[in-house]
Amino acid sequence: MAGIKPDPDLLEVQVSESGLVSGIPSSFDPWEKRNEFFRRDATDFPGLLRFLNSVGLFEKAGQSYKFETMSSILVPDTRGAHHRIEYPEQITAKHIWEMRRLLERALKDRSEIGEYADFEVRLVRIKGQPRVVLTTTTFLEALFLTLTVDRVQAAKVQKCARPDCGVTFAVSSRHERKYCDRYCAHIESVRRDRERKKQLLQSSKGKGKL
Ligand SMILES: [Zn+2]
Repeated sequence: MAGIKPDPDLLEVQVSESGLVSGIPSSFDPWEKRNEFFRRDATDFPGLLRFLNSVGLFEKAGQSYKFETMSSILVPDTRGAHHRIEYPEQITAKHIWEMRRLLERALKDRSEIGEYADFEVRLVRIKGQPRVVLTTTTFLEALFLTLTVDRVQAAKVQKCARPDCGVTFAVSSRHERKYCDRYCAHIESVRRDRERKKQLLQSSKGKGKL
């Protein structure tokens, strides 16, 4: 939903002319997307555009920033119900990275972010069990929800063990985790494997000389 404007830092938010976000809402794990967002290189502008297109609208108008022009749109949820949201027509990459810094700090400092985050709530019974359904319509809102859930669950906050990643992530399960996600765990296992092979090769060479 973003395109490039002459100003390399400015993103123009584009949606369909009917004022409706079309199609079936795509789903993603907001924790995985948060790690992906935190890992992004702030100098990679095309990469940021690709990422934004995978998460939908970044934020609602007036949520954290004074935007010049606003538009409104209907966003469908998984039930097919529509939510009207106002969004800024333009947003800067600088603002997005500022929001990232803020969120990372909130996670590290264990801020009581729930004090400031309101969500749309639905109370339902699923398979005879009472359930609370929280609806988020923008990526920023989904990020606030992950931070709030991590906070109320007293999730353990740690740093990814891949040295060139270092992303701050949270673990709420009892499982030990060293890496922010499978991507980093895989890279590190490939590196360890390569290192092992190199050492094996070196020791066999050493033996050959003797
Ligand atoms: Zn990582």
